[in-house]
Amino acid sequence: MAETHSEKKEKFAVSNLVVHQTVIDKPKFPVIDAHNHLGATFGGNWINRPLSELLSAMDEAGIASLVDLDGFENEEVFEDHLKKLKEKAPERFRVYTGPNYSKWADEKNNFGEYAAQQLRAQVQRGAQGLKIWKDLGAHVRDQHGKLVQVDDERLDPLWQTAAELHLPVTIHFADPIAFYKPLDESNERWDELHAHPDWYFPAESYRPFQALYADFTRLLSRHPETTFIGAHVGCYAENLEAVDQTLAQFPNYNVDVSERISELGRQPYTARDFLIKNADRVLFGLDRPVNPQEYRCYYRFFETRDEYFDYSSTELYRQGHWKIYGVGLPDEVLKKIYYLNAERLLLPN
Ligand SMILES: [Zn+2]
Repeated sequence: MAETHSEKKEKFAVSNLVVHQTVIDKPKFPVIDAHNHLGATFGGNWINRPLSELLSAMDEAGIASLVDLDGFENEEVFEDHLKKLKEKAPERFRVYTGPNYSKWADEKNNFGEYAAQQLRAQVQRGAQGLKIWKDLGAHVRDQHGKLVQVDDERLDPLWQTAAELHLPVTIHFADPIAFYKPLDESNERWDELHAHPDWYFPAESYRPFQALYADFTRLLSRHPETTFIGAHVGCYAENLEAVDQTLAQFPNYNVDVSERISELGRQPYTARDFLIKNADRVLFGLDRPVNPQEYRCYYRFFETRDEYFDYSSTELYRQGHWKIYGVGLPDEVLKKIYYLNAERLLLPN
């Protein structure tokens, strides 16, 4: 069972630093959360709670609108989310969809065409984006049982259709690099991997991180008309120089910051330079169950120069045993990351 914040805190030494602590209630500007999950599997099951509660939590957190990626799970979930969110409060939500890889065995080499047709039909019904998860590249197999790589050409019709319909593609193609490294005492995410053993990708059974990254950049280069949003700072927040180079190389590429203030905030000088340089290419995202306290950790990171604080209000040290530092971004950059880039890159509500 998950431990509470206070239970965990007792296990770790408490810092004696006396430094300024900014209390943030609301973000300085309205925020569009471009990466969240409202479903039962990932997102705290908000979908089965009263919509009014969700809307008031969003209001309290200053969230103008939110991308719910969970329609990608399956057709039934997609319909349910459209009905409960998009139909009730269209201006507050965008619901994304995703390919049904289980049809690969039936559709064989025609799967890309099939997935593109499905996408068109779902857009007619209200889908506003495509979510691609790490199962592509890690688990999805073709009709021969062979692993399908992220840049598999048979999927080209899907990316072309997304481009044609101006649908953004949010893609999570790899996990933190520690999840691919030996799981011994030198692994900086040892605790997290022991809490979630299924997140570990041992080299003997999975494609290594660098191969996944190379697959993904080949995909970007082959589809310059498709808008890709690399989840979690392009899945490589540990190496912002590499992400910066990828952004420089591919104008159709953007990233979201979801679940990664832990990484950005432990390299505040590099992160600040990266965010300012790429201010037009970065979208806000939380990727945690909607909770005003969690959003406030993000606002504190982006808006203040506070030092040595927790990157989560609910699960202390969940990604690693360190604290973070704020980057105190200028207003023009904040506005772009908080909502202007999302307004430009996502479909209108
Ligand atoms: Zn996510």
